[in-house]
Amino acid sequence: MVAPFVHDAPSQRLVFGPGATAQVAAEAARLSAERALVIATPGSGARLGARVAELLGPRAADLHAQAAMHVPRPVAVAGIAAARAARADALVAVGGGSAIGLAKAVAHELGLPILAIPTTYSGSEATAIFGISEGERKTVGRDAKVMPRTIIYDPELTLALPAATTAASGMNAIAHCVEALWVAERTPVTSAFAAEALRLFVAALPRAVADGNDAAARGDCLTAAWLAGAALATGTGLHHKLAHVLGGFGLPHAETHAIILPQVTRFNLAGSPEVEARLAAAFGGRDPAATLAAMLQAFPIPRRLSELGFDRTKIESAAEQVAAIGIRTPRPATAANVRALLTEAF
Ligand code: NAD
Repeated sequence: MVAPFVHDAPSQRLVFGPGATAQVAAEAARLSAERALVIATPGSGARLGARVAELLGPRAADLHAQAAMHVPRPVAVAGIAAARAARADALVAVGGGSAIGLAKAVAHELGLPILAIPTTYSGSEATAIFGISEGERKTVGRDAKVMPRTIIYDPELTLALPAATTAASGMNAIAHCVEALWVAERTPVTSAFAAEALRLFVAALPRAVADGNDAAARGDCLTAAWLAGAALATGTGLHHKLAHVLGGFGLPHAETHAIILPQVTRFNLAGSPEVEARLAAAFGGRDPAATLAAMLQAFPIPRRLSELGFDRTKIESAAEQVAAIGIRTPRPATAANVRALLTEAF
């Protein structure tokens, strides 16, 4: 029997296809954007941002390529100032979760619509979740106005995504799916999205990591990324709350997700046979935690928190912060539980 639920998802327009970036000016026009601020990360992100600004033509007001992971407060303040200085009426975020995260912080302050062109699998473009970090704390909020109104998915933009970023952001999106199946706020829609995204990722992510130019695998991973983000939209549990606390200590987002996912999955599935059965089905009958651990081992990314520079003495503080949240679904997570998980992942 389906448990009582509320499904409340703001609608989005999705434009998917190889070369779809060429439609950015037409899509900006649909949003009535006449002075769009293009937001990107520095380096290769800035070059991509410049290309998008060129495609936008007169609808581009400026390029702000200063996005940074976890949106540190000064980065958000600079982004808001850039949007004000450009008299922007819309934001075009091109890049991974960092570029989209900065656009969300600006949109939250100024109420501007976002057009997102994601180039990783973080799935941020499909959520109304935004965050800003200060020191060792990251504050996260939800607001429908930060949800991108339009998304352009262009698999061609992801062909150059390095294998390590492909693997890490893919594991981040897989974490959205795994968690979506056990959070209390799950709905038949989010569960169906999560299961389909897992099916696509388990088949296509190893192929995209092995050969970045595998266009079919890239397309499947981007499709799965949207489904994963849309599945995450309802709520988060132990996995994301723990990753969020670790992010506050300056750990890289996607890699942290990838490392803790097998442990959190094993912990949460013990004593949750219903969720275990659903996850096992989504993994084609394979043991979910073991499959995730094997993927982590096979991918060219760090496998332990120590490799990310995490300071062992912070385990206690992280465990206490997570325990204070009072997570109960699918099973209670105490400070001792979290300490054990982190020690194992260290
Ligand atoms: P990222 O955006 O930081 O990108 C990682 C690196 O890859 C950057 O250096 C970027 O320039 C580069 N890159 C991105 N796309 C590329 C491409 N196609 N080709 C070559 N290089 C490319 O990484 P991410 O994992 O996508 O995002 C992490 C951030 O997203 C974190 O701040 C996290 O909190 C946030 N996030 C938010 C949500 C949400 O729902 N709000 C969900 C997931 C992640």
